[in-house]
Amino acid sequence: MTIGLKELLEKAEKKLQGVHPVVAAKARQLITMAYKEGIPIIITQGLRTVEEQNELYAQGRTKPGKIVTNAKGGYSYHNFGLAFDFAVLNADGSVNWNVDEKWKRVGAIGKSLGLEWGGDWKKFKDYPHFQYTFGLSLTDLRAGKRPPTTQKEVQQMKDDVKGHWAEASIRKAMEKGVIKGYTDGTFKPDEPVTRAQLAVILDRLGLLK
Ligand SMILES: [Zn+2]
Repeated sequence: MTIGLKELLEKAEKKLQGVHPVVAAKARQLITMAYKEGIPIIITQGLRTVEEQNELYAQGRTKPGKIVTNAKGGYSYHNFGLAFDFAVLNADGSVNWNVDEKWKRVGAIGKSLGLEWGGDWKKFKDYPHFQYTFGLSLTDLRAGKRPPTTQKEVQQMKDDVKGHWAEASIRKAMEKGVIKGYTDGTFKPDEPVTRAQLAVILDRLGLLK
């Protein structure tokens, strides 16, 4: 294999910006585990805004191209940073778009990590797609509910803040509505924090300035 694991992980970070840290961690694990079985993969999509989702939905319907999604804006876990797509690479580094045994193996590895795989869907097989819902439906998410973020994860984020959660990514995540901003009060150290409270923490760390 010509491409290295480190390179694949670095490549993935850009696509994982704005993806929930728990889901992003699973994506990194997936890349590592697949690589160790001789299957290099890339992350092709992470967070997708509602506008971007509507654009994609129009493809093959009101715009040229083939249909790639059945979800309108707000109807995909991508819109809430809880999904990512992958693709298998050939040995020469090009993308292998043929869904073969390698793709299915990556699907199985992802499921072993607790991810839901689009390749298992009955109606619309979405082989590149993984999601992690935290038990939240899209209706919940559209109503503003968000997965809890534990203390440990917050500490991790603080530690990582100069990496994955760099100022630019946080701003982008806020613009895209992943972090809602300072809306629901102050941070209590013993309780799980919401993304809104996380924004407060990041603000206090001077990272939103
Ligand atoms: Zn997807």
